[in-house]
Amino acid sequence: MESKKSEGESSRSRISALVVDDDAIIRKIHKAMLQQVFNMDAKSVKDGKEAVDLHRCGANFDIIFMDKEMPIMDGHEATKELRGMGVKSMIVGITTRADEKDREEFLAAGSNHCFEKPLNRAKVEQVLHDHPNFPF
Ligand SMILES: [Mg+2]
Repeated sequence: MESKKSEGESSRSRISALVVDDDAIIRKIHKAMLQQVFNMDAKSVKDGKEAVDLHRCGANFDIIFMDKEMPIMDGHEATKELRGMGVKSMIVGITTRADEKDREEFLAAGSNHCFEKPLNRAKVEQVLHDHPNFPF
């Protein structure tokens, strides 16, 4: 039912990703890596509420990279909200420290993965490999 047309229809379609982070530098770095290293169609927003609002407006992404600590709506809350709305995208929780509690809460909120900041090639590769549509 979903026919998302992207420019490269003839080749394999690009993976869409949403970076949710209140830190402008992290947004920029993560987005650039997803675009340049993985050729993803990446977008970013600065807090959980913006991510939820985007989805309420009909947006949809293959993968959402969700920061934990953000003003207005944090990553745990936004993940719960998105799952409550029926969003099936792969959600990857991103935390600043290797805190087992943060990780467990992210998974309990409905995320598929949880990694420590910053993202790198190996972490993203692991996410892709676990994606149900791999190899896309
Ligand atoms: Mg943050």
